[in-house]
Amino acid sequence: MSGPLLVAVDEDPALLRDVEQELRDRYARTYRVMCFTSAEEALAGLESLAAADEEVALVLAAQRLAGGTGTELLGKVRRLHPHARLGLLIGWENWGDQSTGTALFESMTHGRLDQYVMRPSSPPDERFHSTISTFLLEWAEARRVAPNTVHVIGETWSGRAYELRQVLGRCAFPHTFLLADSDEARALLQNAGTENRFPLLVMPDGTILPDPTDADVARAAGATVDPQGSEFDLVIIGSGPAGLSAAVYGASEGLRTLVIDKGGLGGQATSSSLIRNYLGFPPGIGGGALARRAYEQAWVFGASFAFMQEAIHLRREGDRTVIRLAHGGKVAARAVVLATGASYRRLGIPELEALNGAGVVYGAAASEAPATVGQDVYVLGGANSAGQAALHLARYARHVTLVVRGSSLGAGMSHYLTRQVEATPALDVRLDTEVVGGGGDGWLEHLTLRARATGKTERVAADGLFLMIGARPHTEWLPADIDRDNEGFIVTGPDLSERRAKVLGHRPFPLETSLPGVLAAGDVRHGSVRRVASAVGEGSAAIQSVHRILAAGSVPATIPMTGPSSAAAVTVGSGSGHGSATSTLS
Ligand SMILES: Cc1cc2nc3c(=O)[nH]c(=O)nc-3n(C[C@H](O)[C@H](O)[C@H](O)COP(=O)(O)OP(=O)(O)OC[C@H]3O[C@@H](n4cnc5c(N)ncnc54)[C@H](O)[C@@H]3O)c2cc1C
Repeated sequence: MSGPLLVAVDEDPALLRDVEQELRDRYARTYRVMCFTSAEEALAGLESLAAADEEVALVLAAQRLAGGTGTELLGKVRRLHPHARLGLLIGWENWGDQSTGTALFESMTHGRLDQYVMRPSSPPDERFHSTISTFLLEWAEARRVAPNTVHVIGETWSGRAYELRQVLGRCAFPHTFLLADSDEARALLQNAGTENRFPLLVMPDGTILPDPTDADVARAAGATVDPQGSEFDLVIIGSGPAGLSAAVYGASEGLRTLVIDKGGLGGQATSSSLIRNYLGFPPGIGGGALARRAYEQAWVFGASFAFMQEAIHLRREGDRTVIRLAHGGKVAARAVVLATGASYRRLGIPELEALNGAGVVYGAAASEAPATVGQDVYVLGGANSAGQAALHLARYARHVTLVVRGSSLGAGMSHYLTRQVEATPALDVRLDTEVVGGGGDGWLEHLTLRARATGKTERVAADGLFLMIGARPHTEWLPADIDRDNEGFIVTGPDLSERRAKVLGHRPFPLETSLPGVLAAGDVRHGSVRRVASAVGEGSAAIQSVHRILAAGSVPATIPMTGPSSAAAVTVGSGSGHGSATSTLS
């Protein structure tokens, strides 16, 4: 029999038999089941499977094993079978136990396993099977054999075929690539009956899109691409976590809602392969998967989406805001949520970019710090955020080195912080220094530092690199009447100056900007926490303020209706969700 393998390892024969039985009963039609009773035996077996190019979908191991521990074994399996999902089997008696929790946390943080799995109780144990099914779906997605996958077929990997894969990725669309002369591509195309223009897409329903434009892809991803001239209750700019959350809450609360994004779905979150700290997902969730779920949720509530549409201009016209798009269209809304996020300045060193999330971390010092116990970590940056991160990490890590390009700490950091940094025993500062290289086998192991004055380089052992080299908000296109801080982040609510707040005609609502009817949420906002959960929280809170602003027509008409678009004066329906009235702008 062929088929991918499900592997179970446990030194207790009775417990192993229970797991084996459950796996065979449910999955034997599609998968092969293989069991081992010791770590050595399992490792040897899995090495042979890797050498024979056999596909392993899942490995479940108990922690107590003859010849090693389960987490050690799974750590080795990760390298042999990178796509396999890895679960540590635990018993009911381990549930909530502190030492088991710590071992799981450490192993999951270092990518040695994906999740714990409660041993099956008396059959049928649907909870056990729900975990196994989730594992198998994740494996299928990683192998790009999941249902509803788009196939990109091209004559070469590069050029337009590559661009199409990027666009599909930005729309959080599962996809795979096939060369046109491969057997699989021929099989997919044999009934197409048309002259094929490569590269092409084979959609999940079998439709073929020959040589599609980005807009064709966005439309196929379920997005409205040309919102030219429509009017909405609420337009959200940005479909990252903040924008998606605003869309779910806005649409579900009866506002006719449009989300515009210059790319696709998910914002920065899609560059995170695993978000570990988002509520409700103990094993973590991929940024793309989270965005896709939120998109579906917003869509079910009636929100419209327009991908590949960049907002380039925004102004108040009477009691509404008109947004101009790069492709020439425009949309109007009674309220706007700016959720355009920010980009972290990247280091741009390929070998370190490849270890993003595997020891190399942008921003997230606070959430990652507990995982650095006993480690030597480096923080790159010379501003307050870098100082704060270094101090926080020094509470956990064995040693922290703050690497600063400048020749004094005081140049970029507040005095109180420099004093704290200097007084912290486990924290050293290297001034006039930059990170120029580094690497590791699946996880960061070393960095190359260069002294700027002499050019001398040094290789140092490192378990973590925290990059705090600044973020740039996407606000350069906004009008001057939207107040921003020195770095360009949008000032909202109580942070607005008295003079700015006066324009609003009321005490600023939470997340309200200095321009009436316009709110900001997520990373683009001055003072935001820059995490997925806080962006989601702000997106939902913004809708609360939208209701308050719209109630009793509390948006003052600050800008008279002038210019060509004044002829486009229309009344916006105040109906709800899918059915609310809209009209067309001229
Ligand atoms: C590599 C990486 C890993 C991360 N890991 C984690 C993690 O594990 N846990 C965690 O909590 N946080 C993590 N974060 C941070 C988290 O992703 C962000 O805090 C979060 O995505 C912010 O959401 P947002 O909606 O405010 O903005 P963004 O996610 O930045 O989304 C903004 C969106 O606006 C769009 N946009 C911008 N300008 C325009 C325009 N003019 N017109 C139309 N659209 C526009 C962009 O295309 C983008 O899609 C990570 C970030 C990165 C970069």
